[in-house]
Amino acid sequence: MKIISTKAELRVKQSAGGKRRVLVPTMGALHAGHVSLIRLAREHAGRDGEVAVSIFVNPLQFEPGADFARYPRPEAADEELCRQEGVDLIFRPLPNEMYFEDCSIFVEETGLSERLCGASRPEHFRGVCTVVTKLFHLLAPDAAVFGEKDFQQLTIIRRMVRDLNFSVEIIGGPTVREPDGLALSSRNQYLSEEERAQAPIIRETLLEASKSDENSARKLAATVREKIETASLARIDYVEIVDLDNLQPSLTIEPRSLLAVAVFFGKTRLIDNIVLR
Ligand code: AMP
Repeated sequence: MKIISTKAELRVKQSAGGKRRVLVPTMGALHAGHVSLIRLAREHAGRDGEVAVSIFVNPLQFEPGADFARYPRPEAADEELCRQEGVDLIFRPLPNEMYFEDCSIFVEETGLSERLCGASRPEHFRGVCTVVTKLFHLLAPDAAVFGEKDFQQLTIIRRMVRDLNFSVEIIGGPTVREPDGLALSSRNQYLSEEERAQAPIIRETLLEASKSDENSARKLAATVREKIETASLARIDYVEIVDLDNLQPSLTIEPRSLLAVAVFFGKTRLIDNIVLR
């Protein structure tokens, strides 16, 4: 397994290439969710192809005052996990490798990013699109794998690839969960014991909603809010029912309706989603 931290080394490596490369972009603190994406990447790369994992805590996608500084960075554990999973290349750039101090060009999506997570984090998807563009240019992957847990992110990346003509196939991977249903996230480790005990209410509520006969999106969303709010430490950021493809609000529950939620437990913001019907 090669570990590369500068653009110059990457160029040398690339010119030696020619193999199918599948990239898994991450911010590190790797968990079983990331592992499932790495395995999916291997399936798509084939045994002769190359699985690359990028590990970069991207300052551009954090809001001012968010958890950028305290975001976990367990470098040795991440390396070990990648080695165990047969990853061929880790690209773990130094912060000053990725952004010039006076950088003035960014990639911005102007429709899909306005709602859901974009509403409370206006700069977030600009940071994501910019860093993913840079990673695609630097690593030149044939395909890249993203998690369905971050559904809006996956939808925006697909749109970016379509609208900006990237030759990268985008693959979505299913959400991996704790036994009690909580979606794995590098941020779960911030939860206090009591918050952690209450957090599975999110998945329980989504599952219950997916079985409901309610046809009105407004009524179903209200029921979801009420149930999540029964957890004393939960503070809802949003509960939205949207069309799976364009993320526009659904009025009625359709086969392609997605229920997406973001809930704070203390300072930790957890997201999850489920396709209804
Ligand atoms: P992150 O390191 O949190 O930026 O996530 C890197 C990638 O892993 C993103 O494509 C996420 O959607 C994906 N991911 C995060 N959590 C999970 C999970 N529980 N199951 C599957 N994929 C995940």
